[in-house]
Amino acid sequence: MEKSLRQLPSVDEVLRNARITAMLENHPRMVILEAVRAVLASARKEVLSGAAAGFQGINKKECLELVVEKTAAMVRCSVQTNLRRVINATGIILHTNLGRAPLCEGAKEAIKMAATNYSNLELDLKTGRRGSRYAAVEGLLTSLIGAEDALVVNNNAAAVLLALSTLAKGQEIIVSRGQLVEIGGSFRIPEVMAQSGAKLVEVGATNKTYPEDYKKAICRETALLLHVHTSNYRIVGFTRETTVEELVQIGKEYNLPVMSDQGSGCLLDLSGFSLPQEPTVREVLKAGPDIVTFSGDKLLGGPQAGIILGKGIYIEKMKKNPLTRAVRIDKMTVAALEATLREYRDEEKAIQEIPTLQMLTAGQEVLAKRAYHLRCLLEDVLDKNTVALTVEKGMSAVGGGAMPTAQLPSTVVTVNPCNKSIVELQAALRDGDPAVIGRIQGDRLVLDPRTISDTEFQLLAVALAGALK
Ligand SMILES: *Cc1c(COP(=O)(O)O)cnc(C)c1O
Repeated sequence: MEKSLRQLPSVDEVLRNARITAMLENHPRMVILEAVRAVLASARKEVLSGAAAGFQGINKKECLELVVEKTAAMVRCSVQTNLRRVINATGIILHTNLGRAPLCEGAKEAIKMAATNYSNLELDLKTGRRGSRYAAVEGLLTSLIGAEDALVVNNNAAAVLLALSTLAKGQEIIVSRGQLVEIGGSFRIPEVMAQSGAKLVEVGATNKTYPEDYKKAICRETALLLHVHTSNYRIVGFTRETTVEELVQIGKEYNLPVMSDQGSGCLLDLSGFSLPQEPTVREVLKAGPDIVTFSGDKLLGGPQAGIILGKGIYIEKMKKNPLTRAVRIDKMTVAALEATLREYRDEEKAIQEIPTLQMLTAGQEVLAKRAYHLRCLLEDVLDKNTVALTVEKGMSAVGGGAMPTAQLPSTVVTVNPCNKSIVELQAALRDGDPAVIGRIQGDRLVLDPRTISDTEFQLLAVALAGALK
C-alpha cells in the first residue's frame, strides 16, 4: 500500500505531462488543476481502501499514465455543457424528456435575431410609445384561429392557473371527474387549480358526466364551468362526456363563463393523414366557450408557451392580474411563436416547415425509403463484425400527451451489437456528443427514422460507430 501511495505522481508532475500541457492551450488552467487534484484524491482513496484493481500493482510510469488518462477524461466531461444535443431515434415526436417540439427554421432565425440584438419587444415603432410584448403574436392568433382576444404566457399550466385565478379565485369551479388529468411529472390539473385559490367541485363519474350533473352542482359560489380536453388519454367504452357545446348552453342558462383547456392544441385537421380526428382550436372556439387554453409546444409545434384565447372582457382582466407578470413569456418565445404562427397562414407550407407536423404526417413509403437509406449509411460506417442490422416494420408515437390512440406505422432500423450488451451500447450512446436515444426491443436498439432528420443520419452513423468500439 505504502509503495502504491509513493508511486502516485505529484500535481506538478501531472501538469508537466505533454498531453496535459497540450490541454492547457484549449482549457482554463483552473479546470485542469481541479481535475488533477480530484483524480489524485480518488486514487489515494482507492489505494487506501485496498481495492485490487486500478492503481495497485503497476509501476510508476504506468501510474502517471493512468492519472493523465483519467484527468483528460474528467476535463472532457467538465468542459461539455450540461445541455447537449440529442438525436431522438425513439420515434416519439413530442418527447417531453427531449424538449418536446423542435422548432422550424423561421423560428430559429427569429430567436437568433431577438437574442443577439435589441428589438421592439415593448416599443411601438409607429408611435414611438411603449408597446405590448404580446402585440407581435396577438393579431396572428386572433386572425388565424378566430378569437376576440389573445394572451400568451409561459406554458399551458400557467395559462390555466392565470385564467382560473382571474375568473374564479375564492369561488367554485365545476369540472367533470373524468377530466381531472395528470400531465406528467406528477403535475395534476386539480393541484394547479387549487393553486389558483378556487375551489374545485367535481361532478359525474370517471366514465360518465351528464349536463344535469353540472346543473345540480351550480350554486351562488359557482364562478366557472371548466372543460378539460383529455388530450393524453382516452376513456373508451361505456362513456358520456358533456361536450363544450353543452357546457356553453348551461353557461348561457345560468349566466356563467365556460373555459376549455385544450392541452395539446391542434390547429390543423390532420385526419386526412390517417391521424385521429382531434378537434382543432378553431372548432372548439366555434362551440362558443369564453376562454380556450393550450400549449405552444405540443401539436402546434412551436416554443414552450401557454396560449389563452377568448372573449375580450376576460382576457383584459387576465392582463391586469399581477400573476401575468410572473408568468410572462420572454423575447425568444415571442420571436419563435410569431415565426411559427406565420407558417400557419399557408397550411401546406406549415406541414412542410414545422418539424412536428412534418413528422406527424410523414408517409409510410417515405419512412420506409429513409429507413433503408439509414441502414445503407450505417453499413458503410460500421464494422460488420460488431453489429447486425435489420430493417422492419415498427410503430412511432405522438407523445407529449397528445393523440394517445394514434397509430403511426413506421419502418425502423434495428441494431444488434455483437461485442456489447444493449445496456452498454445505450450508455455509450448517451455519453456521445450528440447523444443518441433510441428505443429498446429485447436485445436490440430500434432507430425510428420518423424523428431523425436527414441531416442527422451521418451524425448518427458516426455516433453509433464510436459507441460500438
Ligand atoms: C399538457 C397539458 C397541460 C400543461 O401544458 P404545459 O404547456 O405542459 O404546461 C395542461 N392541460 C392539458 C389538458 C394538457 O394536455
